[in-house]
Amino acid sequence: MKTTAVKEGNEWVLSGSKVFITNGMNANLVIVCAKTDTSLGAKGISLFLVDATLGGFSRGKKLKKLGQHTGDTSELFFDKLRLSEDCLLGELNKGFIHLMTELPRERLGCAIQAIGANDGALEETINYVAERQVFGQSVAKFQNTRFKLAELKAQQELCRSFLNACTEKLKSHEMTTEDAAILKLMTTEAQCKIADECLQLFGGYGYTREYKISRFYADARIQKIYGGTSEIMKEVIARTLFGR
Ligand SMILES: Cc1cc2nc3c(=O)[nH]c(=O)nc-3n(C[C@H](O)[C@H](O)[C@H](O)COP(=O)(O)OP(=O)(O)OC[C@H]3O[C@@H](n4cnc5c(N)ncnc54)[C@H](O)[C@@H]3O)c2cc1C
Repeated sequence: MKTTAVKEGNEWVLSGSKVFITNGMNANLVIVCAKTDTSLGAKGISLFLVDATLGGFSRGKKLKKLGQHTGDTSELFFDKLRLSEDCLLGELNKGFIHLMTELPRERLGCAIQAIGANDGALEETINYVAERQVFGQSVAKFQNTRFKLAELKAQQELCRSFLNACTEKLKSHEMTTEDAAILKLMTTEAQCKIADECLQLFGGYGYTREYKISRFYADARIQKIYGGTSEIMKEVIARTLFGR
């Protein structure tokens, strides 16, 4: 993190940029993480509420992505942007702790997207294989198709069950960082596998944009990356096993 906020009188001066911001093209108010004490590492980070109409705020171009075309993602720039003191969100130098507190909820959101997408991909595929005729019978009649869809359905229901458990824990403020990491890792990895296996059952048509399954496939891929990559989720889980 290179963006800094320096106190000048009773104002903060924000300088830097952030690439990959979901809804960055449309947002009116953004939460920016900035270093308020560069000597303290993660303990010198604070959060700021930034009004996009302020001088010094600008947006980069809309990024061209592999999938999720209905959502915009862009880079944001802060050029000596002046903020009043009350734009500090939460406590000074506690930004990293604030982020760590909220990230599990964001990861649960990724899992909800995954479960919803998987329901859709499975439904599309079950309908398609029942209709598509090859070698005089429907694709649904092949044992491979039945077993494959049964495996995917089983994986989906296990994921849904853990999502429901985590949602209950979130409601009672008991969901841990580890719970959220396990949930995001398993549901988003399952989403990519399910989208891939379902597309396979469509054959060549699955690769065309005419069939929705190709969109499920393209939209799924980012889920293993944003909100913390699968590798970082494994790090979070491993830390709880080894104490660090
Ligand atoms: C479409 C999209 C929307 C996004 N929206 C937002 C947003 O709204 N707000 C926001 O703040 N960010 C957003 N992001 C950023 C996203 O969270 C990051 O891209 C993601 O966390 C990965 O960081 P990185 O791109 O810097 O990858 P890098 O950190 O460069 O990672 C590269 C590779 O190295 C691996 N790696 C990194 N560190 C380790 C490690 N310690 N151990 C093992 N492997 C490691 C990663 O897992 C990955 O495989 C978005 C990104 C995209 C593409």
